[in-house]
Amino acid sequence: MAKASSQHDTPAMQQFRRFKQQYPDCVLFFRMGDFYEMFYDDAKLANRVLGVTLTQRTKDIPMAGVPYHAVEGYLRRMIQAGYRVAVCDQMEDAAQAKGVVKRDVTRVVTPGTITDESLLEEGKDNPLGAVMFDDEQVAIAWAELSTGTFSLATLPIADAGDELARIGPRELLYVETADGAVPPRVQALISTTGSVGTARPAWQFRRADAVETLCKQFQVAALGGFGLEDDDPTVGPAGAIVHYLLETQKTAQSDGHIAHLRPPKHFRRAEHLIIDQVSLRSLEVEQTIRGGTAEGSLLGVLQDCTTAMGKRALRHWLCYPLADRGAIEARQDVVAAMIDDTPFLESLRAALHDVQDVQRMISRIAVGRANPRDLVGLGRSAAQADDLSQMLDGRPAMQGFHQRCTAFAGPLTQLAQTIAAACVDAPPAHLRDGGLVRDGFDATLDEYRTLQNDSNAWLARYQKQLIEQSGITSLKIGFNKVFGYYIELTRTHSDKAPDAWSRKQTLKNAERYITPELKEYEGKVLSAQSRSIAREQELFAQLSNTVEDHLEHLHAFAQVAAELDVLACFARRAIRHRYVRPAIVDEPVLHIVGGRHPVLDEMLGDQFVPNDVQLGDGDASLALITGPNMAGKSTYIRQTALIALLAHTGSYVPADSATVGLCDRIFTRVGASDELHAGQSTFMVEMTETANICNHAAPASLVILDEIGRGTSTLDGLSLAWAIGEYLARLGCRTLFATHCHEITALADQYSNVANFNVTVREWQDQVVFLHRIVPGATDRSYGIHVAKIAGLPSEVVARANELMAQLEVSHAGMQKPAKPDAQLSLFTEYVDHPVVDRLRQLNLDTLTPIEAFDRLRELRREVEEK
Ligand code: ADP
Repeated sequence: MAKASSQHDTPAMQQFRRFKQQYPDCVLFFRMGDFYEMFYDDAKLANRVLGVTLTQRTKDIPMAGVPYHAVEGYLRRMIQAGYRVAVCDQMEDAAQAKGVVKRDVTRVVTPGTITDESLLEEGKDNPLGAVMFDDEQVAIAWAELSTGTFSLATLPIADAGDELARIGPRELLYVETADGAVPPRVQALISTTGSVGTARPAWQFRRADAVETLCKQFQVAALGGFGLEDDDPTVGPAGAIVHYLLETQKTAQSDGHIAHLRPPKHFRRAEHLIIDQVSLRSLEVEQTIRGGTAEGSLLGVLQDCTTAMGKRALRHWLCYPLADRGAIEARQDVVAAMIDDTPFLESLRAALHDVQDVQRMISRIAVGRANPRDLVGLGRSAAQADDLSQMLDGRPAMQGFHQRCTAFAGPLTQLAQTIAAACVDAPPAHLRDGGLVRDGFDATLDEYRTLQNDSNAWLARYQKQLIEQSGITSLKIGFNKVFGYYIELTRTHSDKAPDAWSRKQTLKNAERYITPELKEYEGKVLSAQSRSIAREQELFAQLSNTVEDHLEHLHAFAQVAAELDVLACFARRAIRHRYVRPAIVDEPVLHIVGGRHPVLDEMLGDQFVPNDVQLGDGDASLALITGPNMAGKSTYIRQTALIALLAHTGSYVPADSATVGLCDRIFTRVGASDELHAGQSTFMVEMTETANICNHAAPASLVILDEIGRGTSTLDGLSLAWAIGEYLARLGCRTLFATHCHEITALADQYSNVANFNVTVREWQDQVVFLHRIVPGATDRSYGIHVAKIAGLPSEVVARANELMAQLEVSHAGMQKPAKPDAQLSLFTEYVDHPVVDRLRQLNLDTLTPIEAFDRLRELRREVEEK
């Protein structure tokens, strides 16, 4: 904490304390000259997080600083580490300030409210969320400031974690508590989503205040037009989001609203296939389990979009596959048309290539953080709208897109022309550098520039004149930001400098001087320069306003470009990797011929062995896949889930042919997520995940299970796996259940909709060869010792294990009772070996009276106790 003001405080430190009080939750970056300084705890934090050196401003004030020109990089690291930063800038030129320099906080940078290109990941959304609980449900609002989308949902408390994990907020707003503690339910959401929690005052979530805030933001009298009643529970969190955005986007505060934020829309869960967080993770949709990287994930192999907007949309489509057949087929039709006409596909890609990140550029313009390159890039992108529209014209499959284009192509062409007429082709990075606006565009600007250019001619004349006067031919006139204009002489000539020149700076080999004429000239030039930059700023603001008038059109254009980009990505993938169009049907079937795993297929090429799947519609609904470890069971069941998922996104799939019945949810539980979770045993995690499946799976779901019950004793595990298998078989949902535990194959004898499959293995000269081919039928061996050998267990351990197994098999065979026809009991015979069990089997329950039964029970009990 900043200590209370001390009487020795300099005025700057007093200023610092004032701002720190206003932004107690933020790290304060306090501009002093060429540095942003941090003090007290902020300085210690900067030292830890940014690795910058900790110094002392005075004896008791720790200080750390970062150079102003590199501030974006430091901000990014602060944000990544989950901190909020208030950036306090100098509002006037320090040289001209009377007394202490005027300062103000110009932006508050928080993980969920960033718009700057340098702080954002190109292919990933960066949402800000807000939650509010009542007894049964959670109201959620989330907005993406960098693109302007705004969504709402009310969910049962049990489902909130999964849905929020899919939304992936970087920052989560919640109602502040009296004691400042984070409520446990909120904490759970923060943990599952890995977001930064931010407490906000309760009044900002209050309905009446929130309604007012939202009406003001969207400039409406009532929210009904957005399908939002005043008593909708999501109104509170939505209001809190707008409040927070206004507070952090200082530039938007002046007109009281965020221009590019779109009206909130209710997220309709039923429009999408539901994939919970565990399944997204275990299918490695966005990132791999081990490395946590996109490389090696489904997204990683599919990503071939040319625009940043397409990249984000692809991620979104994979996490939110569609649930409606018509919507899926509409996407497929477009992909098909692109595949049929590859020249069209390639020219479409080329047009999209020139479309920059329109969504993020307009958001920066709207919050006043755009730079000249954003404006020029926006103009150039907008110029593609008409080309795109013409390209789509007359193509039946593209009619929907073409219609959308006709609404914006005209206005955006005009906008593009306006920007191109005003701005140079290669703009400077910052407005302060000058040179964005073309010569001849604005008379006032031209006037200032002429003045500057004339002065340049003056400067050349003056240098010549000085050389003539002094006779020093090597004399040069130069400029630097600190000293302004100067006359430079090499050391050897310094004694020839006339007395009228005053010495300004001494360098190693040179001396620098100024003259009254040069000083006067400097004043003129600098004022012409600063006036011309000020004028450029005005023109930039005017152009930005014109862009703001086209926000709707630009947004629609961005949407079309993103969708076409993803569909083109699907088409190219289908062509290059032999993907086929899956038939989408309403019946709960899953028929795949020659299916491949999208990631392994790419890595292994011809080495990958394709496999078939036949589930539902007369075929079994539950397939039990047994086989040794390393045989390819996980790969097979995951590829099936990934093919089903891809089919729901409208993409083609890696197979020779596929028919995919619509799914309501995809559940996946795979052994790989057996990593330790905080405070929970592996087995507990496994059972929690399985319980979720059993509680939520419906007949239209697709369930993928890999090794259930491994985290407990063999008998427990087997019993659980068996019972869960039975449960899912009775439910009839499409299920692939992989296990190395071959005893479970007996389930197929009990349920007609359960079928056994195994992965073929060849034994050859004492070696085991995995063929990775899935064939009907059960397996009866585990080959565990063989896998251990491959894994590099010392040969004597492997030899000893083989020896022990041989012994165990002999004694086991000796102990075993003759197999009984009752399949369920046969499962346990090899574990339960007791005379009492035999006696139990021999009882004829049909002829026993209750009293006799009780007597027998007592006898048996006595027998067990005596043993
Ligand atoms: P399991 O689940 O049976 O232990 P995995 O599915 O993890 O086995 O597969 C083990 C390894 O076998 C994979 O990493 C992969 O290299 C290879 N593999 C699996 N399936 C195939 C296949 N269909 N074609 C070629 N190689 C495969």
